[in-house]
Amino acid sequence: MTPPVDRRTAMKMGAGAVAVAGLSSVSAQAQTTQAQTTQIPAASGENSVTQPILPGSPGFHQFKFGEWEITAVLDGLRPGEGPHPTFGANQPAEVVEALMEKNFLPPRQMVNGFTPVLIRTGSEMILFDTGMGPGGRENNLGLLRARMGQAGFSPESVTLVVITHMHGDHIGGLMEGEAPAFPNASYVFGQKEWDFWTADERLEGPTQGNAQAVRKNVMPLRERAVFVSEGNGVAPGITAIEAFGHTPGHLIFRLESGGKTLMLTADTANHYVASLQKPDWEVRFDMDKAQAAATRKKVFGQIADERLPFIGYHMPFPALGYVERFEDGFRFMPETYQMEL
Ligand SMILES: [Zn+2]
Repeated sequence: MTPPVDRRTAMKMGAGAVAVAGLSSVSAQAQTTQAQTTQIPAASGENSVTQPILPGSPGFHQFKFGEWEITAVLDGLRPGEGPHPTFGANQPAEVVEALMEKNFLPPRQMVNGFTPVLIRTGSEMILFDTGMGPGGRENNLGLLRARMGQAGFSPESVTLVVITHMHGDHIGGLMEGEAPAFPNASYVFGQKEWDFWTADERLEGPTQGNAQAVRKNVMPLRERAVFVSEGNGVAPGITAIEAFGHTPGHLIFRLESGGKTLMLTADTANHYVASLQKPDWEVRFDMDKAQAAATRKKVFGQIADERLPFIGYHMPFPALGYVERFEDGFRFMPETYQMEL
């Protein structure tokens, strides 16, 4: 059993993890495949969850950003085979494997991470995406609410939930059974994403499973939702930007506070080597593959040229870093201590 941690201890743990998290998170994630587990106390009514330890990390990473406090929360890690053919679906396996080895990664194994982001602005507590929710817990995913509890945040404290797009790993945590997981929150959904997934014809064919998940987890929240498009403000300093391709209405956000800017890129790029160094490589989960590739190049070209930090939902935890232009695409550089200074 891990003893419960109070907020100050948790924050110290978070700060202590900063120095190593950026540099070691990939190896740390790989180690979790060796099934170290511990019992984490439930935050708020959930049963305790058995989850892998991420060495050096308590499962969240907190930093000050302008006037705000930002907390990246690890909903969970999913080790598996890959990246090929999920990434580089239009490439020979050997080409993808060689790029992994060049980047000190195993050629046929990968770890995918899921990182919702919580922003305390002073007047609002804004959550971007919700992880896997109850459906992920038997696989050590869906830990968002438990780990928010470790960071000192209750589900009731969230005032606004922003959904970047409506895939299951982003909307799964909106509901706990029949009840909203964040009972006091309002919601922001992309207008185009909503229109796509709630249309009756999505209930047939390859969109069927996800459309059913939208019906269960998103549609019950309609009365408390606002719907946004390109350029709309979500809250002071938070602007929606269209980044279509991964899904038809996929949104990213420009975050500005106290003269600083951070991009929240959601699922624009989903493997920190394959998708960034080779943005043209096809990704199985991108619903419009050509549009997703064009969006990757545009978004990360701007981030590289503006030299902005970004936080990407599937980047190695704590999912925060920079990119520089490199060969055919971009090279990811994890944040280390820049946010602390
Ligand atoms: Zn995703």
